[in-house]
Amino acid sequence: MPRDCSVRGRALGLAVRLRFFTLRLAMAENPSNLSHALSELPVGFHRRRFSAEGGVGFDAFIWRGGPGPVVLVNGATHGDEYEGPTLLRLWADRWRPGRLNGTVVFVPVLNEAAFFAGQRCAPVDGANLARVFPGTADGTPTERLAHLFDTQLLAQCTHYADLHSAGAAYHLKPWTGYVTHRAAITRTQRAMAACFDAFWVWAGPYLPGRTLSAAFARNIPAIYVECQGLGGVDAGDLRNLDRGVRNLLRWAGVTKGAAPRLRSQKVRITRDVDEAHLQVHHPAPVDGLFVPHAALDRRVRRGAPLGRVLPLDGTDGHVVRAESTGRIILIRRQRSVRRGDALFTLAPV
Ligand SMILES: [Zn+2]
Repeated sequence: MPRDCSVRGRALGLAVRLRFFTLRLAMAENPSNLSHALSELPVGFHRRRFSAEGGVGFDAFIWRGGPGPVVLVNGATHGDEYEGPTLLRLWADRWRPGRLNGTVVFVPVLNEAAFFAGQRCAPVDGANLARVFPGTADGTPTERLAHLFDTQLLAQCTHYADLHSAGAAYHLKPWTGYVTHRAAITRTQRAMAACFDAFWVWAGPYLPGRTLSAAFARNIPAIYVECQGLGGVDAGDLRNLDRGVRNLLRWAGVTKGAAPRLRSQKVRITRDVDEAHLQVHHPAPVDGLFVPHAALDRRVRRGAPLGRVLPLDGTDGHVVRAESTGRIILIRRQRSVRRGDALFTLAPV
């Protein structure tokens, strides 16, 4: 089993999976339970801090307009993914639209503890925020953060987008995706993903613990976006994300103007729950130095050698072979690997 931040994180994921089946049906939160009821804010721009016990919290930027959709977008669910935070924080400085038909909420950095540590997961409990949703009010700091976001903000939105990337340790071919849901919600999610028209689309079955799992439970149409990563912010990715967010707000009718002219996308919809689960493919067979032989975006045949892992003690290297035929859409960049770390992901696109 490949590692994803901590063994504890995986155990939490299993607990969340069990909890999901006892979840409530989606319903609007009672405004009296909300620290910041969006519907009670005056029209205009607002900065608000959402907080839970133990210093857990995040900053949100809210553009409150007239009646209409409530579009929520966040970055840094994982702390080493900087494209979303950069875009959303810049919008908070610059975007002062006229009257909106609805409300826009941006959270540039959701997982502050992981962000300031420069890590995927929060150092305080090692848990992956994208495996503990919907969280709990009296759990670990990461579980409390998930609960805060789910109950205080996600519950108030009508459309949701979570901006991710490959982070510092990986490099990927940018895509957008969603969890397949009942037909009407799936159609809405497909339309939302179409707004990010510089990205290819990868949709698949429900996985527990994600922000999108919490949105799924609330019947809120939701998408995620994955940018290149490499520990930085690619200028092209930033432009494409910016275009996607603008298209999304126009498509939703929050901003005025003609419907966006969208480019066609390559689309992959899978029923395989593990196909887009990035942490489970091509695990490193041993600890060691990773030497990739294949490049991102290359199509490979099943069984083709993709790279090697060289143990530090000088014993023979282990060849990593393609598990299937497909395109390399994610590759590990960090050369130090522990047994089980995912090295490649292929997609049949
Ligand atoms: Zn991520």
